[in-house]
Amino acid sequence: MHARSLACLGAILALATACAPVATTPAVADAAAKDATYTMADFARVAKFDAHVHANTSQRAFLDQAAADNFELLTINVDYPVFPSIADQRTAALALAKADPARLHWAATFSMDGFGTPQWRSSVGQAVDAAADEGALAVKIWKNVGMIEKDADGRLVMLDHPALAPVAEHVRARGLALIGHQGEPHNCWLPLEQMTTDNDREYFANHPQYHMYLHPDEPSYEDHMAVRDRFVAAHPRLRFVGAHMASLEYDVDRLGAFLDRFPNASIDLAARMSQVQYQSVRDRERVRRFFIRHQDRILYGTDLTQAPDTEPDEMRRTAHTVWTADWRYLATAETQHVDMIGADVAGLALPRAVIDKIYHHNARRVFLREGNAD
Ligand SMILES: [Zn+2]
Repeated sequence: MHARSLACLGAILALATACAPVATTPAVADAAAKDATYTMADFARVAKFDAHVHANTSQRAFLDQAAADNFELLTINVDYPVFPSIADQRTAALALAKADPARLHWAATFSMDGFGTPQWRSSVGQAVDAAADEGALAVKIWKNVGMIEKDADGRLVMLDHPALAPVAEHVRARGLALIGHQGEPHNCWLPLEQMTTDNDREYFANHPQYHMYLHPDEPSYEDHMAVRDRFVAAHPRLRFVGAHMASLEYDVDRLGAFLDRFPNASIDLAARMSQVQYQSVRDRERVRRFFIRHQDRILYGTDLTQAPDTEPDEMRRTAHTVWTADWRYLATAETQHVDMIGADVAGLALPRAVIDKIYHHNARRVFLREGNAD
């Protein structure tokens, strides 16, 4: 599973070079109208928040580009062997947060090593307390829970494992949100020819060991979704953020039903924009309605990653390209070509008030508890 996230990142980088505007529709003229939309000229001016990035070095290129493009960032630590160690990710996050505390926020994580032992329980407790004391806004549980980690009996540890319930309650009690990445894109359980995006098709063709369609003995897509839903239901006061559109990216109606069912849940858009665009090309109004109906529950995010060896100028270019391509799609009516789905995609031209929530207010409410009573 580990290389899968790299594939997602590669896909983002591909998107960054593949999107070029091919047509422009007239801007909405009446800026005072409540459904007025932004233009590309508004991009740098409007306050924005990328709620899912990985700034895995104290080098400031990513943070500097965020400042230039008017973004706050939530950098998320992950229990992921390809990334620097959890300790090094935390050190980078703390250094960046110290350098620009108003712009750089972070989410902590904990190791699954020794899962279920008394030592593990106490080290996770210490990690959650340290995160809260050091200013983290959330704790991340990655897809190694559900797909990789085993318990003492050799069984996969799923998110609703009893040993994880006290962790969730500790996270909640310390005022933190919990970011959950469980499962994989729906495409992972389909044969190659039925996958909806080229990046998924290419990745799973080259990595059959990760292609769950070929491994019917492993938990099914629906198993993962049911486990996650049980977990969210069991912790109704926990602010839960389903990373990557809660792995329900393939169907905005089903994702909407998830949000309707769980008022304590939000979702981020990280690394799944092509899946949204795939649906948008087929029925733009359906996707537009989803964003408007659930405008309080959707957080903009990219999964942009700065590794310790990422060349600083390349990081800045990539971040700016991804951010402007996404703004073009969500905020304007402009059309751009998206290579991953081989289509020209018309922008959703979401109303300004909706863009302000998805791009800023929701993240500040969910993570910084702005305007929250509890
Ligand atoms: Zn991520």
